[in-house]
Amino acid sequence: MAATYLDKLNDRQKEAVEHGVGLPGGAIGGPLLIIAGAGSGKTNTLAHRVAHLIVNGADPRRILLMTFSRRAAAEMTRRVQRICRQVLGDRAAPLADGLTWAGTFHGIGARLLRVYAVQIGLDVDFSIHDREDSADLMNLVRHDLGLSKTENRFPTKNTCLAIYSRVVNSQGSLLEVLKSSYPWVLTWEPELKTLFAAYVEAKQAQSVLDYDDLLLYWAQMVSHPDLAEDVGSRFDHVLVDEYQDTNRLQASILFSLKPGGRGLTVVGDDAQSIYSFRAATIRNILDFPREFSPKAADVVTLDRNYRSTETILAAANGVIDLARERFTKNLWTDRTSQQRPLLVTVRDEADQAAYVVEQVLANREVGVPLKSQAVLFRSSSHSGSLEVELTRRNIPFVKFGGLKFLDSAHVKDLLAVLRFAQNPRDRVAGFRLLHMLPGVGPQTAGKILETIAADAEPLASLAEIPPPPKSGENWPALVKLLATLRQSAVGWPSEIALARDWYEPHLERIHEDADTRKADLLQLEHIAGGYPNRERFLTELTLDPPDATSDQAGVPLLDEDYLILSTIHSAKGQEWRSVFMLNCVDGCIPSDLATGTTAEIEEERRLLYVGMTRARDCLTLVTPQRFFTGGQNSQGDRHVYASRTRFIPATLLQFFETVTWPLVGAAAGERSARNVRIDVGAQMRSMWK
Ligand code: ATP
Ligand code: MG
Repeated sequence: MAATYLDKLNDRQKEAVEHGVGLPGGAIGGPLLIIAGAGSGKTNTLAHRVAHLIVNGADPRRILLMTFSRRAAAEMTRRVQRICRQVLGDRAAPLADGLTWAGTFHGIGARLLRVYAVQIGLDVDFSIHDREDSADLMNLVRHDLGLSKTENRFPTKNTCLAIYSRVVNSQGSLLEVLKSSYPWVLTWEPELKTLFAAYVEAKQAQSVLDYDDLLLYWAQMVSHPDLAEDVGSRFDHVLVDEYQDTNRLQASILFSLKPGGRGLTVVGDDAQSIYSFRAATIRNILDFPREFSPKAADVVTLDRNYRSTETILAAANGVIDLARERFTKNLWTDRTSQQRPLLVTVRDEADQAAYVVEQVLANREVGVPLKSQAVLFRSSSHSGSLEVELTRRNIPFVKFGGLKFLDSAHVKDLLAVLRFAQNPRDRVAGFRLLHMLPGVGPQTAGKILETIAADAEPLASLAEIPPPPKSGENWPALVKLLATLRQSAVGWPSEIALARDWYEPHLERIHEDADTRKADLLQLEHIAGGYPNRERFLTELTLDPPDATSDQAGVPLLDEDYLILSTIHSAKGQEWRSVFMLNCVDGCIPSDLATGTTAEIEEERRLLYVGMTRARDCLTLVTPQRFFTGGQNSQGDRHVYASRTRFIPATLLQFFETVTWPLVGAAAGERSARNVRIDVGAQMRSMWK
């Protein structure tokens, strides 16, 4: 008898869920690719597959599940647990809770590298640098080499880091990368080479890994056959969602773990590939079936969309149909609707914000909570006016993909204390920490760090060196704090309170709004309670930090209703009843930054498609006629006149209901006169452009 949780699935989904399950002798099935368009139930099918494996006896501790974000991994784990509980009742708890290897590629990589640290010559306490830390370290190294003097006009730390990352990710040569992407710094090639060599050495000496290293080290680790075998044999099943956004290195890791593809399932949609700027390649998903011999991977395609109404789907299909290259087919749905998606023209971003707020509130009036609505945009900066309007009108919101909670200086300061206790060779954390002491400048800090790094026990040696002048009582307090943290003497997460006590007087000295910032630190302590220990907390927070939110404490209360603001990139895999997309104009989508190649423009088209396919019942694209740009045009104006995104040419207008807002003339009654705002001067100037 088929299990009831499978009854809700359609035949193709069921085929994917049951693929290779229940083979004689508990054998594990061959490789499987599920490739299908947005909203066809790929993620849902993957969750059912994991549950089905567990229900049929697979050991959840031996299942590796990789998704795009920690949030998505947590959501998937919850779904699996729900299904398991339905089927197994009380017996489910230990089973479902055993699904501990669920996370992002980078997060899983970090965990495995710690497990195998000894074998691969890594310090088990290695720290992970986010982009900003990496740039800081690059800067330190640049400085040490005498390359940072301004008269040199040497590339900035961020450019250096971007070049380094590009070389590493493409596995190409520095010269090639400079020629193709950074021709203006070609003359610096020898110095850059020296810099990067020193950067790599500094990272190794300090036991520091950056984001790219997590994949590189992991790939290198499993390129050794014995280690590959050992790591691979920890997992009977390896399942990956959003496979279209993985890069070559990630694919090679998978193939090393599961050389014959046995137990390997990947899921994705080529039409939603939006991460090529991180070296993700659409070829991964297209080539997957043929990576295995003698038998190619089985492929399941899904063709029914369960998410969106037919009118939304028609518009989204219209947009993606114009793409140059496409492999997944169009979907169908039986969700009928009379309402076509809206294409709303407004005058500027202020009107756009006013319009969206008005509609969001109107939706709430008719029973659509704020949480079921989302506002999406190409770039994090596009939501500025809207955030102001929402704040003014006291409407709570959460922003994904924008400024991270952890980016604020005081949160980074406190984390530096923890990081330094975890890995006292980490110079970037060390600098940050020592700078908090009165009278300690870069030179003193540099000397202290150098002296203690030479010692096998850097923190012990810290206690022995003479205190820096003017540091006063702060010094012995710091030495004591670090020793306590290092020994994990007070337990987790109470040690954060200890670090807070030491740090707060410093915070009061340098920040006027100390009380707000203290509230953030309390919030950090609260977040820390959700992690088993300091190491996991630091690792996962660095890899996938929580988002900054509308309320100053960091994360909204769970039962509160709030509107979602998100970049399109961060909206991947999610859905809302009502979706608004801001700035659907040329220059924003496609972004001005993607002016170059056809490939870049095509990726922007897919981004629009990803955004549109997030909507279940209601989709609204807004096109302001003017929008704000950072730079100035020749007339000194920071606004530019905009036209509708090229991805919605006139031929696609049939799929939309076009609206101009605010309504003018009779329809708007007397409101129209009040609303009129004409910038005659700007219009005159634009005539001569
Ligand atoms: P995306 O490409 O955006 O990641 P997806 O293919 O992963 O989308 P899901 O998010 O898994 O799609 O599913 C989309 C919606 O369809 C969800 O609300 C899900 O619950 C629903 N759904 C999926 N399969 C079925 C089904 N067989 N019956 C009813 N609803 C379904
Ligand atoms: Mg999905």
